[in-house]
Amino acid sequence: MSDNKIQTSDFLQSVKSRNPHQPEFHQAIEEVIYDLAPLVNDTARYRKANLLERLTEPDRIVSFRITWVDDSGRVRVNRGYRVQFNSAIGPYKGGIRFHPTVNESILKFLAFEQTFKNALTGLPMGGGKGGADFDPRGCSDTEIMRFCQAFMLELYRHIQPDIDVPAGDINVGSREIGYLFGMYKKITNQFEGVLTGKGLSYGGSKLRVEATGYGLVTFVQRILDHHSQELDGKTIAISGAGNVATHAAEKALTLGAKVLTLSDSSGTIFDEDGIDQEKLDWIKAHKAKADTSLSAYVDEFGGKWQPDENPWQVPCDIALPCATQNELDDKDAKYLVKNGCQLIAEGANMPVTMAGKKVIDEAGILFAPAKAANAGGVAMSGLEITQNRTRRAWTRDSLDKELEAIMHRIHDDCLEHGRDKDRVNYAKGANIAGFIKVADAMLAQGII
Ligand code: NDP
Repeated sequence: MSDNKIQTSDFLQSVKSRNPHQPEFHQAIEEVIYDLAPLVNDTARYRKANLLERLTEPDRIVSFRITWVDDSGRVRVNRGYRVQFNSAIGPYKGGIRFHPTVNESILKFLAFEQTFKNALTGLPMGGGKGGADFDPRGCSDTEIMRFCQAFMLELYRHIQPDIDVPAGDINVGSREIGYLFGMYKKITNQFEGVLTGKGLSYGGSKLRVEATGYGLVTFVQRILDHHSQELDGKTIAISGAGNVATHAAEKALTLGAKVLTLSDSSGTIFDEDGIDQEKLDWIKAHKAKADTSLSAYVDEFGGKWQPDENPWQVPCDIALPCATQNELDDKDAKYLVKNGCQLIAEGANMPVTMAGKKVIDEAGILFAPAKAANAGGVAMSGLEITQNRTRRAWTRDSLDKELEAIMHRIHDDCLEHGRDKDRVNYAKGANIAGFIKVADAMLAQGII
């Protein structure tokens, strides 16, 4: 690299050789590098401080053994992690995921993205992520509790309200956060806001459960407003049937949209009449039971069950991928384009593949990246931290207004940095706006 200038292909190559066999992490960096390299190359203070190289190396990664006993008395072993990626603007913050696919690559990609996302909220939170390769499917409630306790038996050494404050993610909801919090308190004898997503009876925040999905739709509505359109009457295809997906659907319904699909790892329901609130309540209750498939929906309400398929062939105005990473590829994006989809907003983290994004970009469809569009959840977690610190509980109404204001601010930051002739490139806007906040804090704190 001459004159310390970043050549994107050299940079990506060096990331790949430093982090072999970590495709998701490479992908997360590739998603930002084309937007950030020109900015860094044009800004002497960023270039001189070698900020991109520093920002793509996590502060630390802890990996540990989790040993627990299942109901049949068998001793089980899993691997747990906490990736503490960047604390330039605040204590590490990011969810815990329990899924058999969890590995270092996935958690590094999530923690890297989280660093930008948390910066975009405007709240003082650094980026982290954690989890375990534990598959809760088929586990009893006591097995889940024992696993959470065994996980915390190591994790407690690495977290604290001013160091690292984890939250939930895939398969870690309020039940698991309760067990994790209980064990932390038992070990440390401290009742403190060390986790977010807690139950309301012991320090949780109202609206935390809903915040990611509600925030996503608020962001979509702001984009539509900016393009002189409205959500009322639009058709929406949503993937997933978990926290983010069901709350996105709920918010979309209140704004007059028609939700055509939801999905899970066994397939997709397509309901031409629309999934209304009553049907959604049934889905939430059904999926809250262990190991259930959405296929039972059609016996209850009709509609079409599409086993092992995702929702992207269904004609819709708006697509909200809300299940998991890399769930919408170029083939899916082509279907969406062909069927007249106008806007794709990422509810899950990195659900659209690089090839999928290329198709979307070439078609000129509006695209909202996860680090901006799904930031509502972590923003509400930030507000939970403040409530815990001040030992106060804010009203649902005031939190709702705060969430809306944060999502609007993120949108407007994306606009400021993402205007591209007569289009808005939201992905570029989010990458640059998030980067500047973190980079300036890193610069101010010297070479550490
Ligand atoms: P949940 O565990 O509540 O729900 C996940 C949903 O996605 C389930 O319906 C699950 O199906 C489905 N799913 C998971 N993996 C796959 C797969 N490989 N193929 C198809 N479907 C799959 O998770 P969340 O809703 O909390 O999280 C969803 C996404 O949103 C993740 O990417 C997460 O990182 C992101 N996110 C979550 C936030 C939050 O506040 N919860 C905040 C910001 C981002 P099944 O029931 O069959 O397992």
